[in-house]
Amino acid sequence: MKFSLIDNQPERAPGQQDSAVAPLIDGIGREVTYLRLSVTDRCDLRCSYCMPERMQFLPKKDVLSFEELAVLVDAFIARGIRKLRITGGEPLVRRDVLQLLERLAERRHTSSLQELCLTTNGTRLAQHAADLKRFGVDRINVSLDTLNRETFAELTRRDVFDDVMAGIRAAKAAGLTIKINTVALKGINEAELPDLISWAHGEGFDLSLIEVMPLGEGMTERSKDFLSLQSVREQLAQRWTLDPVPYSSGGPSRYVRIAETGGRLGFISPLSHNFCDTCNRVRVTCTGMLYTCLGHDGGIDLRDAVRSDDGLVRFHALLDEALGQKPARHDFDVARIDTPSTVRTMSHTGG
Ligand code: SAM
Ligand code: SF4
Repeated sequence: MKFSLIDNQPERAPGQQDSAVAPLIDGIGREVTYLRLSVTDRCDLRCSYCMPERMQFLPKKDVLSFEELAVLVDAFIARGIRKLRITGGEPLVRRDVLQLLERLAERRHTSSLQELCLTTNGTRLAQHAADLKRFGVDRINVSLDTLNRETFAELTRRDVFDDVMAGIRAAKAAGLTIKINTVALKGINEAELPDLISWAHGEGFDLSLIEVMPLGEGMTERSKDFLSLQSVREQLAQRWTLDPVPYSSGGPSRYVRIAETGGRLGFISPLSHNFCDTCNRVRVTCTGMLYTCLGHDGGIDLRDAVRSDDGLVRFHALLDEALGQKPARHDFDVARIDTPSTVRTMSHTGG
């Protein structure tokens, strides 16, 4: 797909001007300004709620190259994407991801992209934190469900807790803004959530709690793991003063400030509290599949359009088609949590 070298906007075919720059507005009027791009479905951990030990990964030939990903991002920016999150799988296991991040970080100076963020499990952060800071990555989310080494090894099926903690220390030392993401799991990290929150706030990090979602087949029984954040919030409110704050990071977290720790705590509660009315996001996988809802299987394949020289018109037509079909809401339901809402895992779609 070709781009103009002058203004970094897609070259437009006659009559295409409008759709190539029109904002992404879905069928019920929600404007999409946030792209989550999964750059690999591979990972060096095997979190039990995310993927099975013997995971079938996508063939490498199907995965978009560095250049193809950059072209795809540019086309999205031309349609009004202002926030970009690079995710996976584990993005830092992809060999050329640092180059890609460096290239995309430049876009904040040459296009309307305002924010570049990264979600990582932290295992390789110690090697890369300084570069991420140098490129100007705005914020990183580090996923950490426990401060207990044994629980970590059991949950992720890999004994690398020390690497993750070293990564978090390196990221803090490099001056990156860090948020910790913690999936709340019944009977696994339930009892230590207050300790995790106190630790994060003591380090100067925001922390968001996440409800486990029924994504992907063949994982642990979700009903055993599921912990409602409504009940977690009630428990925390007995210990601390939780003051709701209007802060938004542009994602689905709803925040409170804890008076006693001084830190911010987010709740991502797709099951106990649906937040689809304000959804501003779409996701693209490393093979170029566009998903307009995390909780639905229907997707649109952008790869051929990205790979062909004259694919731009088709690309924007596919975007418009996908936006027109963006579901009003996911249909996650605690009562059906053991039945996956999607065949694909979160690691495939991009968290
Ligand atoms: N590997 C990176 C990481 O773990 O941060 C990025 C990808 S991971 C899929 C993104 C986030 O999704 C992580 O915070 C992870 O805990 C979360 N996640 C994975 N599967 C989930 C599920 N079924 N329900 C809720 N969160 C999930
Ligand atoms: Fe890997 Fe992230 Fe999934 Fe854990 S949650 S298995 S780190 S992709």
